[in-house]
Amino acid sequence: MVRILLRFPEKIVNQPIIAETILKYSIHLNIIAAYVDFHGGQVLVEVPSQDIEKAVSAFRERGVIVTIPKLIEVDKEKCIHCGSCYSLCPTGAITISEDFSVVFDKEKCIGSSCGLCADACPMRAIILTREPNLMVPNSGNEKTL
Ligand code: SF4
Ligand code: SF4
Repeated sequence: MVRILLRFPEKIVNQPIIAETILKYSIHLNIIAAYVDFHGGQVLVEVPSQDIEKAVSAFRERGVIVTIPKLIEVDKEKCIHCGSCYSLCPTGAITISEDFSVVFDKEKCIGSSCGLCADACPMRAIILTREPNLMVPNSGNEKTL
């Protein structure tokens, strides 16, 4: 599965583009997170690797901006397990273990579509980074997140 971030500008945010793309191309999308209002939206989805080119083309044809989200990396040498990041995480990706150390579950993290923990960390122990070798096909309009 490949995670991609779909950005919907205001002029298309009220269109059922995800549903129509799933039906038209039989792509099995998994929606990880969504933030949508009248001014636009961001939806983080997982797409099967074999369908990624088809999905990216289909969304771009409809005016959706498609990018690869950055994921978090935690520098364990810098982390002092203060817990400042823990209560901010909207997805439950950060937990505190029995020995009071802070634990990150990257499978639950929605990366740069959130980034709250990275902003809050007093030690700058959390950075947003791209997975190596992960590209959006034909990413001419890709923006740095
Ligand atoms: S805010 Fe930073 S230093 Fe504190 S627990 Fe989280 S990663 Fe560690
Ligand atoms: S980036 Fe957001 S979702 Fe990911 S661990 Fe940090 S707070 Fe949680």
